[in-house]
Amino acid sequence: MNMNEQEGMKVLKFGGTSVGNAARIKHVGGLISERKGNLVVLSAMSGVTNTLTEISDYLYKNNIPGAQDTLNALEMKYQGVVAELYDDAKWADEALSVIGNSVGYIRALIQGDFAVAEEKEILAQGELVSTALLLNHLKERGLNAVMLPALEFMRTDHNGEPDMKYISTRLLRMLDMTEEADVYITQGYICRNAYGEVDNLKRGGSDYTASLIGAVLESEEIQIWTDIDGMHNNDPRYVEGTRPVGELNFEEAAELAYFGAKILHPNCVLPAKLNNIPVRLLNTLEPSAPGTVIYNLPPDGDIKAVAAKDGITAINIKSGRRLVAYGFMHKVFETFENHKTGIDILATSEVGITVAIDNDTRLADIVDDLKMFGTVSVDQDMVIISVVGDLHWHHAGLAVRALHALEDIPVRLVSYGGSNYNISVVIPKDFKVQALRKLSEHLFNSNPQ
Ligand code: ASP
Ligand code: MG
Repeated sequence: MNMNEQEGMKVLKFGGTSVGNAARIKHVGGLISERKGNLVVLSAMSGVTNTLTEISDYLYKNNIPGAQDTLNALEMKYQGVVAELYDDAKWADEALSVIGNSVGYIRALIQGDFAVAEEKEILAQGELVSTALLLNHLKERGLNAVMLPALEFMRTDHNGEPDMKYISTRLLRMLDMTEEADVYITQGYICRNAYGEVDNLKRGGSDYTASLIGAVLESEEIQIWTDIDGMHNNDPRYVEGTRPVGELNFEEAAELAYFGAKILHPNCVLPAKLNNIPVRLLNTLEPSAPGTVIYNLPPDGDIKAVAAKDGITAINIKSGRRLVAYGFMHKVFETFENHKTGIDILATSEVGITVAIDNDTRLADIVDDLKMFGTVSVDQDMVIISVVGDLHWHHAGLAVRALHALEDIPVRLVSYGGSNYNISVVIPKDFKVQALRKLSEHLFNSNPQ
């Protein structure tokens, strides 16, 4: 295909639940056949990456039968999918041969030495199989579907960051050398690292793959297809009557993804933003619903959505001196850096600082070190509640509106002004549902968007 034909190409990413069983794969096949000329990025079938992680865990523990049992169950699951998915034995055989190779490959690894490199090869199998299942299904439907193997163009550099130049050169060359097709398919999540070994973009990384490819192709749009009709204005698991947010800008989407809205991987936003490519969140089960579109939406003074992030620990450090001395902040931050623990949000005063973290694996050591600089207290089982929207400080009253909704709730920390797009509070987890509901009542129900 030549460069002109890539113009107007969209990247369509389908997540694990969208291809979770044979019926879902057929359904996605239908959606794809109505949208020809695009590039599809696929996750592993839902649950498969977890199963592959489980197999690896057994191997780390040297429990060979555990790994074998789990693999056998996966193989049977795949065979069931094949039996249901294809009418023509030709395509079923093609799919079975890929499954056979993949399962055989893992079986061989089970017998050998096991370390991180082997684990990554095992983890890559989920996407390798799901894409083969879909490819053959599309062919059975009569589509000219072409596989673009991700391991031949997705690559990270020595810092573990996507090697954009390599990805771009290889992918464009591959497309150039490929006949024009009805649809191109590739694996999400998997890649090679700087040493050429099989690697991945971390759990949930298929969104990131889609965004990187969209950026490289300067695609017209990146579509993330899941099983919910866009980013909702609150968490539908806890709050009734939530609505999809029609439009968000990249900053708002990144804040929501980072602070708890599970629908989109936070990394996915940046490549799209830098290349100004709209990201549209769509629902596989309700394809005509408008979903949410994320683009360079101009400031509109609207509060868009509320999200919650669980498992937060708040740590307060009161300076030993009456007034915070030069260097106090530095020492505090350095402590977190030394323990490779990122800080989510914080609040400071003249005499102390409270930080909120989501990774408490090094908590005991962190607290131990912080005691050199001041008096330390810790509150665990907290959540961050974030109100996200165009909250530029020039819009008088917006921050107050958000806080007003929380009048009956004990608030450990407030963070506002760090970005123009959010106000966040840390509260005890027992108040989470109440806070989310109150925020919806105050911010959305009285003022339908
Ligand atoms: N299959 C991978 C996972 O479950 C990547 C993805 O689905 O985005 O994390
Ligand atoms: Mg996902």
